[in-house]
Amino acid sequence: MAPDSKNVGYDDTPIIPGTNWHVHDGTRPQPPIVTPGTPSTEDEPGAPPSDAVILFDGTDLSGWIGKNGGEAQWKVENGYMETVPKTGAIQTREHFGDCHLHLEWAAPAEVSGDSQGRGNSGVFLMGRYEIQVLDCYDNPTYADGTAGAIYGQYPPLANACRRPGEWQVYDIIWEGPQFEAESLLRPAYVTVLLNGIALHHHTELMGFTSHKVVTTYEPHPPVGPLELQDHSNPVRFRNIWYRPLKGYDES
Ligand code: MG
Repeated sequence: MAPDSKNVGYDDTPIIPGTNWHVHDGTRPQPPIVTPGTPSTEDEPGAPPSDAVILFDGTDLSGWIGKNGGEAQWKVENGYMETVPKTGAIQTREHFGDCHLHLEWAAPAEVSGDSQGRGNSGVFLMGRYEIQVLDCYDNPTYADGTAGAIYGQYPPLANACRRPGEWQVYDIIWEGPQFEAESLLRPAYVTVLLNGIALHHHTELMGFTSHKVVTTYEPHPPVGPLELQDHSNPVRFRNIWYRPLKGYDES
C-alpha cells in the first residue's frame, strides 16, 4: 500500500462466500462514480445519469428504424416523438440486454376511444416482451391490459396513471431470459415503476407477449432492440435511456 493512501478496510476478516473478498475488504474495487440525473417536470425532461446510453434525446429518430424495415415514420417535435398511427412499430438500432430502462410517455390530452383503444402503445423489451402503455385514467379495461401490465400475464400492482396529456415515467429493471440452444435456462424477470409506484417486483415472465393465448418462450439472442408499439393512437415519448446492469467487481 502506498504510504499516503489510507486503508479504509480490513484484511483479517472472513472471506464472503462465493467471492474473493474479505468482509469490508479494503482492496475491493470501488463502485464507479455516476452523477445522478435530474427529475423531469411537465415542461421539460430531466437530465439522464452521467453514464446512461441515450436512445432518444428529443431531437431526432436517427437511433431508430421501422420494425418492418426502413426509416422510423413517427414524428418528432417539441422534444418528444409521437406515434404516427398505421406507420408501424419502431425499434432502436441498438440491441442490448439486462438494463435499467427509463422512458416517459403521454397519452393524448384529448380523450378518444375506450378500453384498449385509448392511448394504447407499448414498451417491448427485446422486441418481444410488452409493458403496456395505455391511458388508464378513468378508463376501465381488462386487468392484464392495464398501463404497466406485463400484457396478458400480470396486472400491475396498482393503477398509477396520471391524467391524459400528462407525462408518465417508467423505470424498468429488465433481466432477459437465458437460453441454451432450444432450452430455457432462466426466465426473464422485470421490475417496473410507474410514476415512482412499484407495479412489478422481480416478476417472472411466462414468455413473449401475445394476444388472447397463453404464452411460452422461444429462444432468441441475449440482446435485442427496444420497440415501441403502434396501436393506432398518437402516444408521445421522451427522455429514453438505459444503463446496462452488470457487476463491476464480479469475481
Ligand atoms: Mg399496447
